[in-house]
Amino acid sequence: MDRIYLDHNATTPVAPEVFEAMAPYFTEAFGNAGSVHFFGQQARGAVEEARDQVARLIGASPGEITFTSGGTEADNLALFGGARLRAERGRHLVATAFEHHAILQTLEALEREGFLVTLVPVESDGMLDPRRFLEALRPDTTVATVMLANNEVGTIQPLAELASELRARGILFHTDAVQAAGKIPIDVKALGVDTLALSAHKFYGPKGVGIFYLRKGVQVRAVQFGGEQEKALRPGTLNVPGIVGMGAAAELAQAELPEVSIRLTAMRDRLQAGLLERVSGIHVMAQAAPRTPNTLNCCFEGVHGESLILNLDMEGIEVSSGAACAAGSTDPSHVLAAMGVSAELAQSAVRMSLGRGTTEAQVDRVLEILPAALERLRSLAPHTGNR
Ligand code: PLP
Repeated sequence: MDRIYLDHNATTPVAPEVFEAMAPYFTEAFGNAGSVHFFGQQARGAVEEARDQVARLIGASPGEITFTSGGTEADNLALFGGARLRAERGRHLVATAFEHHAILQTLEALEREGFLVTLVPVESDGMLDPRRFLEALRPDTTVATVMLANNEVGTIQPLAELASELRARGILFHTDAVQAAGKIPIDVKALGVDTLALSAHKFYGPKGVGIFYLRKGVQVRAVQFGGEQEKALRPGTLNVPGIVGMGAAAELAQAELPEVSIRLTAMRDRLQAGLLERVSGIHVMAQAAPRTPNTLNCCFEGVHGESLILNLDMEGIEVSSGAACAAGSTDPSHVLAAMGVSAELAQSAVRMSLGRGTTEAQVDRVLEILPAALERLRSLAPHTGNR
């Protein structure tokens, strides 16, 4: 069966050109980027080229980029490293309520260290009201974090509207931009952030590699200790093939972005319009808000999202209920809860996230299969939502 993969927000396949760029660094160019000899310098050169490529993708200088093991580690470094360094000045941290767990769980860990966290709700359209966020700031606030694009509903947050006020108050401003890379342009200067997290596997790079952007002149405290790699901010032998892959993926993303974003928006809108036309009791989440071009999240009255997902999987269509790291959990999505969606409706959420390989024929097939699967489930248990 030709499977239709519509879960690109969970992860993406490594692009062939990215794989090709990585391959030599597993075998003949295997050096440790910290070694002084030929093999070490060969690896070091490749790492520095990748640093340039990633820096270009986000409008940063190469010196502001630190390679990490992914988005989670970069988020941890920003929050632990930012909050602990400023603990003498204040212990209050502010975030939106619909951040990824890499942020929320880190903030919970910081609470256990004696920090105080305020989570600001988002509006029903999946957008943060900047005024509401700024109202949550206190004289002892030291770190603020707002994701650039939400992983479940795709909404793009108004970071630039917060930046000047946060900077004026000397508050470290972090953004988790993991779901934005390769989908929308990112310019750290225009966003006005101090730190930013990216993950390669969300934009056709390999898993297990990411970056932490740290604006020149801003400081955070390291959370890992060991060697001097990455200016001792992220010690440990560098994952050279992964880093090379991230660089190649960044270059590809930058080159393709204008074309891919137009194509994906058109296909996502076609999928959305087709579902709205064919299906009753459908609620498109964040329909009126600015969203990443590839993301469509819908709730379907009277069904359980997991049942629909399993049914679609049997038909060769791969979608998800939300974040992959929360899959298997029976709790309704905290993202939809933060948007004020009822627990009952949120249980029916299905996220479809398109990618560079998605075709119109695939979208048409989903438009054929999904309404039929929905009808079947609804007729099985019309009153219980077939839980
Ligand atoms: N932040 C967001 C918004 C994500 O979607 C993800 C991935 O699921 C992460 C952070 C974690 O990134 P990684 O898988 O590289 O640790």
